[in-house]
Amino acid sequence: MSISQAIEKVEARYAHQPEFIQAVKEVALTIAPLYDAHPEYETLKVFERLVEPDRVICFRINWENDKGEIEVNRGWRVQFCNALGPYKGGLRFHPTVNQSVLKFLGFEQIFKNALTGLPIGGGKGGSDFDPKGKSETEIRRFCYAFMRELHHYVNKDIDVPAGDIGVGSREVSYMYAMYKNLTRESTGVITGKGVGFGGSLMRTEATGYGAVYFLESMLAAQNEDIKGKKVLVSGAGNVSLHAAEKVCMLDGIVLTVSDSKGTLYDEKGLNQEKIDWLKKQKEQSKPLAEYVDVFGGEWLAGKKPWQFKADIIIPSATQNEVDEEDAKQLVENGIRYVVEGANMPLTADAIDYIRLHHVHYAPGKAANAGGVAVSALEMSQNSVRQYKTHEQIDSRLKIIMKNIHDSAAEASEEYCQTKDGYIDYMSGANMVGFKRVADALVAYGILN
Ligand code: NDP
Repeated sequence: MSISQAIEKVEARYAHQPEFIQAVKEVALTIAPLYDAHPEYETLKVFERLVEPDRVICFRINWENDKGEIEVNRGWRVQFCNALGPYKGGLRFHPTVNQSVLKFLGFEQIFKNALTGLPIGGGKGGSDFDPKGKSETEIRRFCYAFMRELHHYVNKDIDVPAGDIGVGSREVSYMYAMYKNLTRESTGVITGKGVGFGGSLMRTEATGYGAVYFLESMLAAQNEDIKGKKVLVSGAGNVSLHAAEKVCMLDGIVLTVSDSKGTLYDEKGLNQEKIDWLKKQKEQSKPLAEYVDVFGGEWLAGKKPWQFKADIIIPSATQNEVDEEDAKQLVENGIRYVVEGANMPLTADAIDYIRLHHVHYAPGKAANAGGVAVSALEMSQNSVRQYKTHEQIDSRLKIIMKNIHDSAAEASEEYCQTKDGYIDYMSGANMVGFKRVADALVAYGILN
């Protein structure tokens, strides 16, 4: 079955899963030259196999709210592909979570994890539980109840979850505590644990910092650097604030952050004091808008950050937050680099538009792979029960991000007919990630 036939099959079978179809097409449409060069992929139906998860586990979570009432949520774990190692990918708690969203994230995760060069397969999970407005004890009860179900399916050698939207170190600690309680094992079954009880240094910073390390390589490939460049960041969570922090450390100028309520614009740019304030504000679930009273700037209620003139954007909030209209505005405003901190933050039309206009574009599976890479380093530290220093992890992260950049750039050069030094990171990253997984599947025969 050819790739186009496999896409048609996915579209027919999963018509009700638009995000998943979007993610499959994004990969499929870029790997054709590689697929054609390897007839064994088609013989062994590699693509058709890869678009079907190994399994989707779906479970009910009963928990008790502060009023003593029973609440019922749905939980999932998508174990997508373990060709390269244990399933690995985060857990998302957000009311928009459904099977389509988790399958898109799990599918992306397979290739992202392959790009890191580390032995990890792809998975994703989560729940439609909405942490917003819940008390500390409700969050704790929910996390315990979630792991009470999930622990049947995960294990340090089988499937190792982590955090994502709505799941930070607090939630990871609660889930880890329940896992230990039920299994009596102190293992690396979940990553993002607190430093001091199994967590790795730099895991919190890794995704945002890693995205900026990737950006540095992109700029270097065009003989530029980040100093003095204006950057628009979206989101005000883990990825966004650490990406903003690293840009500031490298003397770039971060003009915006945002959240689901609106955008904060500070024409003077953020600095460490402002970022520390923002981290604290979000930790306490307080409004971003209060920034204006403390530091000045402008709060734009209900608006996205894409209306301002700048050089670079790092969309780091959620999927499909940049549409075609936004893309037109970005091009008009002179944006030359797009680095995806979030997973699939650009719609397919937005990607087409910016690529057509030669905006340098780093897809999430390459640019935000730093988080899962340090998670894999956490797994190996847990296995040997020895911990690395901040400097050791940071230098490993830099090397991993540079390797991802360079391998994607090399694949772009080998397979894509681009001109004037433009690097097709999207096709390059998809081909490198896909090839590593496909070659393992070919070696295994028809198992896996
Ligand atoms: P967080 O929960 O820490 O932060 C998410 C941020 O995005 C918040 O500011 C949130 O605002 C905002 N946001 C969420 N949904 C929307 C929406 N629909 N519209 C506007 N703003 C929104 O999540 P992370 O920073 O961990 O994750 C962000 C993205 O990065 C996700 O796509 C995730 O999959 C991806 N990612 C995360 C990794 C990690 O290590 N954490 C690793 C790789 C990818 P509010 O608080 O108002 O909801």
